[in-house]
Amino acid sequence: MHCFFHSEDCQAAGSGEDNSSMIICSGRPAAAFTSFVFLDRDGILNVDRSDHVKHWSEFQFYPDALEALRMLRRRKIEVILVSNQSALNRGLTQWNDFLDIHRNMLQRIRAEGGDVLAAFYCPHRPDEACDCRKPRPGMLRAAADLYGVPLHAVAMMGDKFTDLEAARAAGCLPVWIRRPGTEAAAEPPLESAPNIAVYGSLAEAVEALFTLTL
Ligand SMILES: [Mg+2]
Ligand SMILES: [Zn+2]
Repeated sequence: MHCFFHSEDCQAAGSGEDNSSMIICSGRPAAAFTSFVFLDRDGILNVDRSDHVKHWSEFQFYPDALEALRMLRRRKIEVILVSNQSALNRGLTQWNDFLDIHRNMLQRIRAEGGDVLAAFYCPHRPDEACDCRKPRPGMLRAAADLYGVPLHAVAMMGDKFTDLEAARAAGCLPVWIRRPGTEAAAEPPLESAPNIAVYGSLAEAVEALFTLTL
């Protein structure tokens, strides 16, 4: 997978001209002997939209997600976001609006006591058949390469079947966040799938994670 890096401190707007996926790093290394968790973004940190989250004004945090990120930080568990953002290559949002969302999101997370080590974003449409768009495991593997994430000892939390499939393909523990009142994601394969942990919010899933020895 080709990636290009964009430091969050870099003011120059990124662009997808080379059509790679994008990694936005915190600029700090992961602490030694640290634990990690992979999180999807839309539907996990913020309310998803069927018309995509295209602008910061459309980004609405789940309050329990901010609490969950604070708990993770307190436990020194590094958060890596892994998110499909096809609105970019669908032409529904612009790169500067997309980066603006990321910066504002991070600022709010940090103001609330949480943090994000790195964010991996796939800008591709499904028809582009890239390696990074979930359910493919490209972004999880890239994170493993970059940060030494032990994939078999890490949970990937998402709201869609594609998140869980990506988790499985990478060898991670799939965790399904199924918030009450949201549309069920791809029921049949999930209902027949054993060993999927299901929680009603990110905060619940994170609390459960603390009791697990992965
Ligand atoms: Mg999602
Ligand atoms: Zn991609």
